[in-house]
Amino acid sequence: MAKYVGAHVSAAGGVENAPKNAQAIGARAFALFTKNQRQWRAKPLSNEQIDRFRENVQSAGIEMKHILPHDSYLINLGHPQDQQRQKSLEAFLDEVWRCEQLGLDKLNFHPGSHLRKISEEECLDRIADAMNETLKQSSSVTLVIENTAGQGSNLGYKFEHLRYLIDRSIDRSRVGVCLDTAHMFAAGYDIRTREAYEATMEEFERVVGFEYLQGMHLNDSKAAFGSRVDRHHSLGQGEIGLEAFGYIMNDERLCDIPLILETIDDTIWDKEIELLYSFME
Ligand SMILES: [Zn+2]
Ligand SMILES: [Zn+2]
Repeated sequence: MAKYVGAHVSAAGGVENAPKNAQAIGARAFALFTKNQRQWRAKPLSNEQIDRFRENVQSAGIEMKHILPHDSYLINLGHPQDQQRQKSLEAFLDEVWRCEQLGLDKLNFHPGSHLRKISEEECLDRIADAMNETLKQSSSVTLVIENTAGQGSNLGYKFEHLRYLIDRSIDRSRVGVCLDTAHMFAAGYDIRTREAYEATMEEFERVVGFEYLQGMHLNDSKAAFGSRVDRHHSLGQGEIGLEAFGYIMNDERLCDIPLILETIDDTIWDKEIELLYSFME
C-alpha cells in the first residue's frame, strides 16, 4: 500500500528549485506554484528552467504524477463580471500551459467565488464553462478541483459542487478533485473518529467517487468544525487531531496520489512527513 506524502514547497528562485526543496524534507510528492501566486503575469519558462526542473524531479526520485501544482489565488473562474472572469480564464490557461511545458499532468485550483453578485448555480456554470474552454485549449493536464472551507462566497464547500462541475465537463477524463482535510472539516465533514471518517468518505464516494480523487491536502484546522473558516494548523495541534491522519495513511483508497502538507510551520514538515509514515500499520 504505497503512500506518497510531501508538502507545498517553495519555488523561490525558480520552479527548478521546488524538487530540491521536496527532497530535502524527505518528501515523495510535492506541490508548488509554477509562478508567483500573488501576481497576474509571469515571465515565460525558459528551456533551461524546464530541463533543470525535470532533472531535479528525477534525481529527487519523485514521479511526475505525484506532483500537484496549485494555481494562483488571484484566479476566480466564477467571477460575476465578464471582464474579470476573462482575465482569470487567461491566467488559468497560462498556468495550464506552464504545467504542460514542465511535463506535469495536473493543476489544482479552487473553483471560484460568486462575490454575492450571482447565485451559486450561476457561478458554478461560469466555472464549468471556463473549465471547458481550458480543456479545449490544452491537451493533457487534468483540472483538479479542490474542495473549500466555504469561507466568504467561495464555492466548493459541498461535495455536490464538485459533482456539478464534473457533470458539466466536456471531458471527464481530464477532471479530478483534491480533498483538503482542513477545508472538509470546516465545511462540516467530520473525520475525527473512525465512524465519522468512514461516513464522510462514504458520502464522498456516493456523491463524487474515488475514481476522481487526484490528491489530498493534509492539514489540521485552527478553525472549529463547521465554522466555514479556512485556517490551517500543524498536524495534531488543531481541532481535527492526529487520529484522522492515521485513518488516511491506512486507507487503501488513497494510494498512489499526492498527499500534500500545507501546514503552517514549514520547519517541521520533515517531522510531519515522518510522523505520517509512522502511522502506517
Ligand atoms: Zn488550495
Ligand atoms: Zn488545500
